[in-house]
Amino acid sequence: MSVPQDSYIQVSGVEKRYGGPETALTLQGIDLNIRKGEFVSILGPSGCGKSTLLKCVAGLENVTSGRISARGEAIKGPPAGLGMVFQRDMLLDWRTIVENVLFNVELQQKVTPEIRERAKAQLARFGLAGYEDKRPWELSGGMRQRASICRALLTDPDILLMDEPFGALDAMTRDDLNVEVARIWLETRKTIVFITHSISEAVFLSDKVVILDRHPGRIIEVLDIDLPRPRPLSLRETPDFGRYSNHIRQVFTKLGIVKDA
Ligand code: ADP
Repeated sequence: MSVPQDSYIQVSGVEKRYGGPETALTLQGIDLNIRKGEFVSILGPSGCGKSTLLKCVAGLENVTSGRISARGEAIKGPPAGLGMVFQRDMLLDWRTIVENVLFNVELQQKVTPEIRERAKAQLARFGLAGYEDKRPWELSGGMRQRASICRALLTDPDILLMDEPFGALDAMTRDDLNVEVARIWLETRKTIVFITHSISEAVFLSDKVVILDRHPGRIIEVLDIDLPRPRPLSLRETPDFGRYSNHIRQVFTKLGIVKDA
């Protein structure tokens, strides 16, 4: 496959098998090029290997064959400048919210008063001013997930990997956080790889949607989303948005993943 010159994360011929040669492939023939500053969603049904692909990109899982590189260097472990957000917020109950936000920085360096102030400012930008000294259990699910996004952003990663971060939230909170993530992306132009099984979330957020099938996980189509930004939630009611969603739904219907009436 020819590699575009502006490829920032490059996945070439990746296969992943969790067990020995007798076990089934989880990922097969994955080729994907992600440009710097692109927002890419990986969309597919449960069990198709979305998390596995993200873990391979993060250097948390080895690939069985093929190659993944970021900024031109092969991934051998978590690369520098990487932030991650998971479906479960992974906040530590014995730490306050600001101490949780500082956690990743603390692993790398001494926390200065200036960094602590930055953590508080970050929380304020995410609507969490006044919650700095609360414990995680005192916050709602949406607030906890906002705090975990703050934690990922505080080290100023240029690549942000988000593994179904809003899957456990109610629909309205999820809408709020979609708008928030779209705003962060517009402000920072970080390279974001976002896993979801929501068609509408993928279309709303992305420049590019990677559609996966399962057993084994493989790419069926990479769809460019050419919708203007900033994107208000009302964009979801427009014919253009509907065309992208319909197209994806039809792909999943043909694959037997989505059943239509
Ligand atoms: P998704 O994120 O799309 O739901 P996953 O990547 O979590 O899919 O899982 C894809 C497949 O790989 C599933 O069948 C799952 O059971 C299997 N799998 C995931 N992680 C492991 C593991 N650590 N060991 C063995 N099998 C795994």
